[in-house]
Amino acid sequence: MTSGHPAAIDRDALAVLNRVFGFASFRGPQQQIVAHVAGGGDALVLMPTGGGKSLCYQIPALLRDGIGVVVSPLIALMQDQVEALRELGVRAAFLNSSLGTRAAAAVERAVAAGEPDLLYVAPERLLTSRCLELLGRSRIALFAIDEAHCVSQWGHDFRPEYLQLAVLHERWPQVPRIALTATADALTRREIVEKLALGSAREFVSSFDRPNIRYRIVEKNDPKHQLLDFVGGAHAGQAGIVYCATRARVDEIARWLSAQGIAALPYHAGLDSATRSAHQARFLREDGVVMVATIAFGMGIDKPDVRFVAHLDMPRSVEGYYQETGRAGRDGEPAEAWMAYGLADVVQQRRLIDQSQADEAFKRVSGAKLDAMLALAETIACRRMRLLAYFGETGAPCGNCDNCLDPPEPWDATEPARKLLSCIYRIRQASGFGFGAQHVITVLRGHTGERVRQHGHDALSTFGIGTELSETEWRAVLRQLIAQGLVSVDHAHHQVLVLTEASRALLRGERTLSMRRPKTRPARRTGRGARGAHDGATAGTAGGAGTTDGIVAGSTADAAVEALFERLKSWRRATAMARGVPPYVVFHDATLRGIAERRPVSLAELAAVSGVGEKKLDAYGAELIALIDPVGP
Ligand code: ADP
Ligand code: ZN
Repeated sequence: MTSGHPAAIDRDALAVLNRVFGFASFRGPQQQIVAHVAGGGDALVLMPTGGGKSLCYQIPALLRDGIGVVVSPLIALMQDQVEALRELGVRAAFLNSSLGTRAAAAVERAVAAGEPDLLYVAPERLLTSRCLELLGRSRIALFAIDEAHCVSQWGHDFRPEYLQLAVLHERWPQVPRIALTATADALTRREIVEKLALGSAREFVSSFDRPNIRYRIVEKNDPKHQLLDFVGGAHAGQAGIVYCATRARVDEIARWLSAQGIAALPYHAGLDSATRSAHQARFLREDGVVMVATIAFGMGIDKPDVRFVAHLDMPRSVEGYYQETGRAGRDGEPAEAWMAYGLADVVQQRRLIDQSQADEAFKRVSGAKLDAMLALAETIACRRMRLLAYFGETGAPCGNCDNCLDPPEPWDATEPARKLLSCIYRIRQASGFGFGAQHVITVLRGHTGERVRQHGHDALSTFGIGTELSETEWRAVLRQLIAQGLVSVDHAHHQVLVLTEASRALLRGERTLSMRRPKTRPARRTGRGARGAHDGATAGTAGGAGTTDGIVAGSTADAAVEALFERLKSWRRATAMARGVPPYVVFHDATLRGIAERRPVSLAELAAVSGVGEKKLDAYGAELIALIDPVGP
């Protein structure tokens, strides 16, 4: 199709972007990647989830002669991907084990005739001699290797078949290959290059920032109600994922949310596979389903309109946290990543490491990863800067995280921390054994419960020296001490608090402790609701939208946009149902929102909305124009 001249490639690529996909311009490095691959070069693309990887191979496949072969491990999603392409008027097909013999034969005939522009294939299918021969008789435009980190034996998504994909290079040395992944670290990158023989590929590394995701980490005090405030408030009716650490917790939270009137479903490895896929299908195909899940629910969930990801338990590492929260807002619309964490999370995670059967080296690495996660949770600086710094990127405060929007008060907690440490020390000295958090705090606050009297702890010099702080505040101080390794917890002995080597420095005045000033009591429900209604993902703009005057700005104009958006969503629901595809295959939220805001009255105006390509304009244009009342809501 293209003449191969760079300027011509650029022009044709832009034309395809406009006409087929309905987008006005390329995003980030897309244009360079498309040009490079369309011109016959190999590429390794590292781009965060939602960055727009698909276009990087779809457009070159359309520009080059022959079939673009896409290798993907995500069988469950191939059908949706192919349907989405067909909706755009692209000839696409897939081959995997979910097809019956008859259907597979039909696809093979189409391939033999060179019909599809894009063919999605599962790796195990591709590697069969039948498939390799079939492709050997066809003209191939390119090979795209999606989720390329699956070659990594160290990663948790390892797929042994991926190791054999180097065969593509041996058999088709002239055909360009593009490997794509959202996994950023250097080790994985090296493995991809080596295992897939991509030594001469050009690397395209994007920023891993996800500016449309708002990060928020709160102190856990009443997790269920905090979650309900979050999910049922600003995010009411939206699709989201709630991650919990255990299956039992998943079941409990899913039941509880359902009882509160929220469309919540559980997902974990303990459910039979029929239930799991039924729940996954509902999550993908219905609007506003909340999936409560363990991390078993994850890779390949490329539903674009996940509006929030909530963590009720702290992940073990920043990588895990970033990957999980990254499932929010792939469509670029505002989304929120929210986590509640508290003392128990810190203790629990440390315990998992201490008690694991792994060797010392592994424990050390796990400990360091946990420390980074804790530092993120406790930081009073910009969350996004912390996150990106972890992945080696630098930047300025983002304006779209809790700490930027509502800066926490720094607090010199050295004195309280010393009191706490002395109290732990005195108690052990007096009794010959240690006590847990609850007891130590009771003594500090000078409460004379039965246990305190029984052990004579009301006679200690540290009894009642901590009346200035509430119990919640003391727990926050303790959490900080444990997070920083200044106190440890003896898991073998009733979670007793123990001083560490590092405690001494603090007791001796050689170091200080600063932290965020803890909130004395949970924020009031009503206050949060009102604010949430504004600063949730319903706000029309991404990034650091102001938080103070939003409620006033929520004028009738916004209400009209909102009302039309809702009507468009119900139209989409009905249309998707009738066609048997997920709603986002018909149009993404971002496109519906664009339509609601612009209120186009002609096909030409509608075509100007991002995400409305030629084919969709044909299929739905008239219907949509009829649906949009130029004046009314
Ligand atoms: P990834 O595979 O990197 O997670 P996708 O390819 O699914 O990301 O793209 C994420 C979202 O961004 C999709 O909704 C897609 O339609 C949209 N998108 C991608 N490129 C562009 C672009 N140039 N302009 C507008 N939207 C885009
Ligand atoms: Zn920030």
